[in-house]
Amino acid sequence: MLGLLLEMVKNNGAENPTDNKIPVGISNRHVHLSKTDLVTLFGEGYELTKIKDLSQPGQYACKETLTVCGPRGAIESVRILGPVRSKTQVEILKGDCFKLGTAAPAKLSGDLSGTPGITLVGPKGSILISEGLIVAQRHIHMTPKDATSFGVTDGESVSIQIDGLRGGIFKNVAIRATETSSLECHIDMEEANAMDLNPKSTITIIK
Ligand SMILES: [Zn+2]
Repeated sequence: MLGLLLEMVKNNGAENPTDNKIPVGISNRHVHLSKTDLVTLFGEGYELTKIKDLSQPGQYACKETLTVCGPRGAIESVRILGPVRSKTQVEILKGDCFKLGTAAPAKLSGDLSGTPGITLVGPKGSILISEGLIVAQRHIHMTPKDATSFGVTDGESVSIQIDGLRGGIFKNVAIRATETSSLECHIDMEEANAMDLNPKSTITIIK
């Protein structure tokens, strides 16, 4: 019991001004495009139009949207997030898999090995990507300094606790620690709705 109390005191110390609460970022389905695919879908020389900065430095939501087409159905107005990346990646919700008629694995952004492809339709063309369709695996962005403060390491998998009437515990939340990260736990809309989270909610890491 004393050990637990000491741990609580330590965790709530001045070293961590966030009081162990981590803000939540809720993502809807979205697409990251490669430069080549941007040209095919929007035309030669096209540049993405930023409409809103996202919490992670350098990332932004664009005015442009695409239609994502699967064998069973299509989803229109899927937001593009900038800037362009080395590979096109389509992040959908689990429920979208049923509408599209395709299965997407839960993967961390950038880990596209073994993922299925999908068709994307833009105003000037369409492409069938051979891989890149994922359901984003929940994760927490932080700096290495934050990681030390929380007692976690980059790549580690932790559980998070969500308070409230519909609260609970999500397991398998990946720690992503880089120098340019802003502290935020990324979950998708379905996960957020399941536990009644909103953009002002916070979560706590438990191990
Ligand atoms: Zn993220």
